[in-house]
Amino acid sequence: MSTENKAPASLNDFASGKLQALEAKNQRRTLVNTSRTQDMALSVNGGPRLISFTDNDYLGLSTHPDVVAAAQEASARYGAGTGASRLVTGNCPLYAELEATIARIKGTEDAVVFGSGYMANVGIIPTLIGPKDLIIADELVHTCIHAGITLSRATCHFFRHNDVEYVKELLRGHRHDYERVLIVVDGIYSMDGDLAPLLELGRLAKVFDAWLMNDDAHALGTVGGGRGSAHALGAEGYVPLQMGTLSKGAGSYGGYLAASKPVIDLMKTRARSFIYTTGLPPAALGASIKALDLIENDKALTERPLKLAKQFAAALGLPEPQSPIVPLVIGAETAALDASAQLAEKGYKVIAFRPPTVPEGTSRLRFSFSASHKDEDVEGLIMACKALGYGA
Ligand SMILES: *Cc1c(COP(=O)(O)O)cnc(C)c1O
Repeated sequence: MSTENKAPASLNDFASGKLQALEAKNQRRTLVNTSRTQDMALSVNGGPRLISFTDNDYLGLSTHPDVVAAAQEASARYGAGTGASRLVTGNCPLYAELEATIARIKGTEDAVVFGSGYMANVGIIPTLIGPKDLIIADELVHTCIHAGITLSRATCHFFRHNDVEYVKELLRGHRHDYERVLIVVDGIYSMDGDLAPLLELGRLAKVFDAWLMNDDAHALGTVGGGRGSAHALGAEGYVPLQMGTLSKGAGSYGGYLAASKPVIDLMKTRARSFIYTTGLPPAALGASIKALDLIENDKALTERPLKLAKQFAAALGLPEPQSPIVPLVIGAETAALDASAQLAEKGYKVIAFRPPTVPEGTSRLRFSFSASHKDEDVEGLIMACKALGYGA
């Protein structure tokens, strides 16, 4: 047996010890092979067909025939990869069309596409904000915003979820101590499905000369006529930095920032996660262009996920959702895992989210609804949940 690649004992001991500790808290994670087909059907490890209520594919565009065809055409024409970073030779011509479309949907002067939503946030935040500046962030913002904040080395205050009064106090007390101030929120919160109070925060930001940024990962294609959270809340003009992803509602891959021309030009010149990484595969760009075309022009498509979420919540006596994400908080990790397993037996894939993704003691089933769910899928899910004793 070859020993050349043997890891040092200390390294393996570290990794195993860490895993055991997580296992003891029911927090160890494992991957399963998942084959997805159309209409939100999937199979796990070659098992029976399940209907997924757990994807972020809110419009079913990841498997839409026109979107898949656009991906194939783009690869046939431009190849499987872009060969270099965008500033070198990786700037495939499809980027220009994609970025113009994003800017039009978001109502901004310009937009820039990054490798992913995660890469967008770790690039955008440190490009705008530095060690002498202040970031005010909702306590529930996505983990990649935390990563961007850390890289910026700015002072950061987290505020109680959606607490506008608290943001006002922070600005009153601290604005004058800093040069630049960024207020950052998720447009839609991925574990609770609620929206950020963008209009109220936007007004405050104007008064105190702070910059408001929303992460619209879950909002593109799902609220505001498909245009996102700022449009859903009548806060157009209040959010100068609209970030998001092409990997959820748009069904493909990539991240973006929609903003003014100077801000976008600065990103292309300074954002490290834009400069020092390879351009996206042309297939992802072609798919996104087609997906955004559908999002812009098919109102029935973008209205359906929220409509289904409301129907489900009403049937189970849950509060009316603002987005296609409906949480059912169960509490203990094992109880949430149990509920998830029981729904799988009935033919529905619903993931149990556990700490550290959600706060301790709030393990939950998180249902997400897609335009490609059939009416009978939602009816069947409601019956299955009722049979488990929820919403009785
Ligand atoms: C999924 C998500 C991201 C990351 O986007 P990717 O394109 O998947 O990297 C960022 N922010 C939020 C709020 C998300 O839900």
